[in-house]
Order: sequence, then structure tokens, then C-alpha cells
Amino acid sequence: MKIVLASNNAGKLAELQAMLAPLGMNLLRQADLGIGEAEEPFRTFIENALAKARHAAAASGLPALADDAGLCVDAFGGLPGVDTAYYATQFGYEKGDANNVRALLEQMQHIDQRCAAMVSTLVALRSADDPEPLIAVGRVVGEIARERRGSGGFGFDPVMFIPEFGQTFAELPPDVKNAHSHRGRAAAQMVQLMRERWL
Ligand code: IMP
Repeated sequence: MKIVLASNNAGKLAELQAMLAPLGMNLLRQADLGIGEAEEPFRTFIENALAKARHAAAASGLPALADDAGLCVDAFGGLPGVDTAYYATQFGYEKGDANNVRALLEQMQHIDQRCAAMVSTLVALRSADDPEPLIAVGRVVGEIARERRGSGGFGFDPVMFIPEFGQTFAELPPDVKNAHSHRGRAAAQMVQLMRERWL
């Protein structure tokens, strides 16, 4: 079965392709089919992921898979959430991982409740009209460290301290991080859902 991935991120494609291959699914990037990116105007991951999947399914006539992800900080009522990638720009910094971490450390300087989750939401549709999307949510809960630690990973990894390991994601070996990441957990659930419901 061919399925369109509503993302142009090569890393995500490779990771999801490897997980879906045992199901006999062949993941295609929407850009390779000449499909542009969808708007993401909503305030929740699920709404944005659904909009992206529906857009890719409508434009391709194929089943589609989309994700939306971000950081949810308890002390901020779950924000920055869907705004995570642009977090730094809210404080006058340019968009980018290093500035995102800098802005987060500054905003949490006087906050002791440091619990936060990285959240990945995956949505799959058989067609643009599919009334029953498959929805998988993966979360990894940690504490925002008071300073950066480690040089691996990307994004918020240097300040995402995982109590279970006593280290930040940036300090853990990539295979350990990936096995415990929000993305990996969501993808594993999605594979299970596809097996049960689509095959
Ligand atoms: P994306 O939509 O998955 O590309 O990510 C949204 C935002 O979350 C970006 O700012 C990423 O840097 C950040 N992010 C996504 N995954 C991770 C991760 O595994 N560790 C740290 N930050 C992440």
C-alpha cells in the first residue's frame, strides 16, 4: 500500500518508513508528488495533523499520514504546544533551536514547577473523506533543566531532563533517546492501529 507523508522532513520519512515497512507500506513524501504544504492554523496538535493529512490525501488520492509535535510545559498550561518551533520569535529572537532553548530558560528562570512533555500526534486517513482517522499520541515526560547539558540530539534535547535516566536527551545515546522518544512511541502505536484496522 502506498501512503503519502504530509511532511518534507527527511529524518521523519526515514524513521517512519522503517517502522511501516514490515506492514508492506511504502511511504511517499508529498513534495515528491508535487503537493505543497498545508496551512496549520489550529491551536491543537490533533487539528493541525488532521488538516495536513486531509490536504495530502485530497491532493494525492492516496492514504495519508501526518504529524504535529511540540513541547508542552505544565507551568505554561501546556504551551508553547503548536507554537514550539517558533517559540523564540515570541521574545524577539530569530527562529532556531538555540534561541528556543535560550528563550525557554529565560522564561522559566523563576519557575520551580519544571515538568514538561514532548508530544507527537500522528493522524492517518484512508482518504480525504475518511470519517474515522487513526490517531496516535506519544508523550515523553521530563523536567526542564536549569542549564543545557549534552551535545546530542536537537531542539530542546539539551534541557529535556529525563528523571528515569538521570540525563538530558542530549546526553543519551541516540538509540536510547529514539527508543523513548515521543515520536517513536506515537509511531509504534500507529503501526499497531494500522495492523488492527487497515490490513
Ligand atoms: P517538529 O514539528 O517535530 O519538527 O518539531 C516541533 C518543535 O519541537 C521544533 O521546535 C523541534 O525542535 C522540537 N522537537 C521536536 N522533536 C524534538 C525532540 O525529539 N527533542 C527536542 N525537541 C524536539
